[in-house]
Amino acid sequence: MTVEKHGFQTEVKQLLKLMIHSLYSNRDIFLRELISNASDANDRLRFESIARPELLAEEAELKIWIDTDAAGNGTVTVRDNGAGMNREEAISHLGTIAKSGTASFFQQLSGDQQKDSQLIGQFGVGFYSAFIVAERVEVFSRKAGDPAASGVRWESSGEGEFDVETVDLDTCGTRIVLHLKPEAKEYADGFRLRSLIRRYSDHIGFPILMQKAGEASLEYETVNQAQALWTMPRSEIKDEEYKQFYQHLSHDFSEPLLWSHNRVEGRREYTSLLYVPSRAPFDLWQREAPRGLKLYVKRVFIMDDAEQFLPLYLRFVKGVLDSSDLPLNVSREILQHDAEVEAIRSGLTKRVLELLSKLAADDADKYAAFWKEFGTVLKEGVAEDPANRDKILPLLRFASTHESVDDPKVSLTQYVQRMKTDQEHIYFLIADSVAAARSSPYIEQLKEHGIEVLLLSERIDAWITEQFDKFESKHFKNAARGDLNLGKLETEFDRLRKESDLKESKGLLKRVKDALGDKVSEVRVGTRLKDSPTCLVVGEHEPDAAMRRLLEATGQKMPPSKPVLEMNVSNALVKYLDQESDAERFGELATLLYEQAALVEGDRIGNPIDYVQRLNRLLIRLTGTPATSMPAA
Ligand code: ADP
Ligand code: MG
Repeated sequence: MTVEKHGFQTEVKQLLKLMIHSLYSNRDIFLRELISNASDANDRLRFESIARPELLAEEAELKIWIDTDAAGNGTVTVRDNGAGMNREEAISHLGTIAKSGTASFFQQLSGDQQKDSQLIGQFGVGFYSAFIVAERVEVFSRKAGDPAASGVRWESSGEGEFDVETVDLDTCGTRIVLHLKPEAKEYADGFRLRSLIRRYSDHIGFPILMQKAGEASLEYETVNQAQALWTMPRSEIKDEEYKQFYQHLSHDFSEPLLWSHNRVEGRREYTSLLYVPSRAPFDLWQREAPRGLKLYVKRVFIMDDAEQFLPLYLRFVKGVLDSSDLPLNVSREILQHDAEVEAIRSGLTKRVLELLSKLAADDADKYAAFWKEFGTVLKEGVAEDPANRDKILPLLRFASTHESVDDPKVSLTQYVQRMKTDQEHIYFLIADSVAAARSSPYIEQLKEHGIEVLLLSERIDAWITEQFDKFESKHFKNAARGDLNLGKLETEFDRLRKESDLKESKGLLKRVKDALGDKVSEVRVGTRLKDSPTCLVVGEHEPDAAMRRLLEATGQKMPPSKPVLEMNVSNALVKYLDQESDAERFGELATLLYEQAALVEGDRIGNPIDYVQRLNRLLIRLTGTPATSMPAA
């Protein structure tokens, strides 16, 4: 029969090259990956046989066999009696990468071996990992229930091409033969393989068989526990076994941060084993990235990435759900509108939130590590899941004026505990960075009075803080919006100063409003400022600059905003302005102060060239040069 040559897809070639270089110290994983594929193939056949029972002869047990020939040429063979592949499937499944996020994976590669090997781990090398240890790989496969009933032989040395030919095979399923590289011959040792299987694949749901030790024994024995991990009692499972199962499930090289294994009994019955990874996957922010749990019904594998069982803001959670109540023929469509699914989802959501809250209480450092990786995602829950908001709010962490580092460390519970005696609000401010928020004019007086302000700087913050209402009966207050009334926290001195300011500056405020016209809705004496001359403030329920940008980015047209200009009448520039009698110069300086405030708010000023020219005219005047020789901006 003729042999056909095919080239690997470019991405596969790249992956092969990269993998062989950067995964040398993780060589063992090839076995886990191949066993995992064999187990997937068995799972698939069992699932298909629900609708087509003839696919699986009644007495046939799904298994995985591992053979070696240490004495001979040094090969390792992994065999299953699962779903198998036909010729076309072998060509496409073993010659391309069909995963979503592939492009972004390749973009993120840095050339730094350490970093890249992490990334490859998250991406999943799968079948191609065979080439870490093998100089030549042969795959024999026959698809179960395929009427053509012949098989396919696939072979490659993992460079640029692979060969495919049609061959006769007696049995269905797949056999993969690894011809080990000289420096990887150690894997042909039966004892070595057994220990790897026990370490990495002890708790996959199928028996893994190897020939009994001893000369020329043809008898096979099961070398793993072959009981799906989640079906075992918690008390019988070691931490190490949970960790290994996570790596089997997620193909992630790193250890999980924490996990939760639970059986729910009674009216509703299901078992869940949920993991929080220690590192964010590279495609956490991609919409099309697969997410969700591996779904089983009564121990029969149904589907990967069942996303209906957890809300979007917990999309980093990995794990298994085994339900006793869902029908075996359940489809993605059914899952979307099922009351049972809804109930499980709500149960699992609570479970994860409790797990995180326990971690936060028990181990602040570990929780900080979690927050660094997944905090931004978890935050989405404030808006996405109002029913659980009370559970989510205490999990948030913020940067704060009361901390010297910019890392988010402060919880709302901590904030409320150290509030000033008469303080009524939880103050926060959003800016482009924590550093910008920290030095913002909006919080000058709050800082002066030693009142803590939470400093927010992520894109999503503008959105979720809209949902902030109360925490432990304290209302939230955006320091850049509305009236900032310190109430009882004001000192007698503050009050006296404010009264006299108000009296003395009536005229100035009116002149500034006249000069600025429609740009602002009002000019008033500010309560926020201590050092800066001016700031712009929007109404309590109006979108501020950050919010406007967010809405505009989603394509919404915003009406022009008309903020209030707050002035610090103790500021030297403002005092100078008050003395200015020339109407034109007064107008210029007032406009300049307004534009500065807009810049500080993070807004685009209408015309930056006007602004720069205005500023330059002022500077020129300071140098005493005649106005006629003024350079353009
Ligand atoms: P993944 O398992 O994440 O899909 P892999 O690279 O491990 O990626 O495998 C690629 C594909 O090759 C699988 O999705 C499957 O379709 C096919 N495949 C690999 N091994 C087997 C096997 N033992 N039996 C049947 N199909 C297999
Ligand atoms: Mg795989």
